[in-house]
Amino acid sequence: MEAPENCSVKVAVHIRPLIGDERLQGCEDCVTVVHGKPQVQIGTHSFTFDHVYGNSGSPSSAMFEECIAPLVDGLFQGYNATVLAYGQTGSGKTYTMGTGFKDGCQTGLIPQAMNALFNKIETLKHQSEFQLHVSFIEILKEEVRDLLESPTVSKPEATNGHAARIAVPGRPPIQIRETSNGVITLAGSTEVSVSTLKEMASCLEQGSFSRATGSTNMNNQSSRSHAIFTISLEQMRKLHPTFPGDNCSNEEMGEEYLSAKLHLVDLAGSERAKRTGSDGLRFKEGIHINKGLLALGNVISALGDEKKRKEGVHVPYRDSKLTRLLQDSLGGNSKTVMIACISPADINAEETLNTLKYANRAR
Ligand code: ADP
Ligand code: MG
Repeated sequence: MEAPENCSVKVAVHIRPLIGDERLQGCEDCVTVVHGKPQVQIGTHSFTFDHVYGNSGSPSSAMFEECIAPLVDGLFQGYNATVLAYGQTGSGKTYTMGTGFKDGCQTGLIPQAMNALFNKIETLKHQSEFQLHVSFIEILKEEVRDLLESPTVSKPEATNGHAARIAVPGRPPIQIRETSNGVITLAGSTEVSVSTLKEMASCLEQGSFSRATGSTNMNNQSSRSHAIFTISLEQMRKLHPTFPGDNCSNEEMGEEYLSAKLHLVDLAGSERAKRTGSDGLRFKEGIHINKGLLALGNVISALGDEKKRKEGVHVPYRDSKLTRLLQDSLGGNSKTVMIACISPADINAEETLNTLKYANRAR
């Protein structure tokens, strides 16, 4: 099956290399990329996506150019966009996006997007004025947490000298709101105005650090939360006279205002929660799956179904905080790219297959 053109959601697969731990355990590579095709095989299953990137280490420039650069360009035309990194914990979502405090902060897709954005601004600055804002939040158990909240005090001795983020008592919870023209906003979260690449990179780093350390220090927290780095671009474009010979004054030329945002999402781990029972045996919780991931799957499959779309079928955005927040940037005129991250190791074959099935449903 070939990938349909003009589908509202593009799906790419990123296969990371076997990592040290897997090699030590003697794992074998169980995922094959069909030569010259965006097709992956695992066992007897075969899937075709828009793009497949294999075993290349860091997100390649080809991956950036094919998947993300069109979204960055779209921002300048006023199109919202969303990039979603999906996959089990350990499959490389954080590394691919660049939301890891330790690795990926330079080479991931977000740093590459920031670079492209500032390069483009540089080429357009003679004809437009730009304003950029970023926010960085995390959704954990249906609660929104601000990752850019300014560091309140600190006990340096307890945090190796880094400022600690501690929850401010009485701070109202962050709320997702919708304006009368359908724009989704976050009330109560930090929006940082940035004017240089360095400032934007420092927001990414601060939030990534905050996510990695977390206020409760619960070990596994970041694998169960969705991290959303949002870049908002406002632009005031000077309109040129229709005919080159026209002699217009500045007032006659007019201006056009455009705004758009790009959400870069490092999703919660897609594995079903496993729990250790009192007898020490691991058993599957079976029914427990992250509410946001479930709702996201339903929203994306409703958007991908041409027939349903034409019939104006209900898209269940309101079923989770994640889909509600992304509502104005998923579907409609916005561009969405899902990056399914997978491990090639045979011990992960079952989760890898689940990821490929979920991603396949998105197309
Ligand atoms: P996730 O966010 O999905 O839980 P991570 O991004 O933390 O996964 O990746 C898990 C481990 O695999 C990390 O140690 C990371 O450095 C490594 N890793 C992930 N992707 C790659 C890659 N493309 N190349 C090399 N190492 C990778
Ligand atoms: Mg991660």
